[in-house]
Amino acid sequence: MSKIIITIEIPDGATVNTNSGRATGKTASSNKPFVERPDPPQPDGYCEIHDADWRLVPAGVSKTVKNADGSPKRYNAFWACPERGCDNKPPFNRDAPAATSAVDELF
Ligand SMILES: [Zn+2]
Repeated sequence: MSKIIITIEIPDGATVNTNSGRATGKTASSNKPFVERPDPPQPDGYCEIHDADWRLVPAGVSKTVKNADGSPKRYNAFWACPERGCDNKPPFNRDAPAATSAVDELF
């Protein structure tokens, strides 16, 4: 077996991780502790697909998504299209973070 020496130039300040191969730094959202928030204010606009006003879905517990420890995943209230299964969502409101993919979890 022959040996090849590879020289890699590393800029100052950069770090080299020779143990790579596993993606790190990204944890499943289900591992994040649930943070209860007040009901978000009604967003602007409406679902243009269904010509329907946004509907407030009250906070609750997911029937299909569980936390890492097996307990049901909770979600905060969010605004969504009243049409069942519609993925259209109100524009993101910085002051009222909406639960992501909560629509899928509900139906
Ligand atoms: Zn819709």
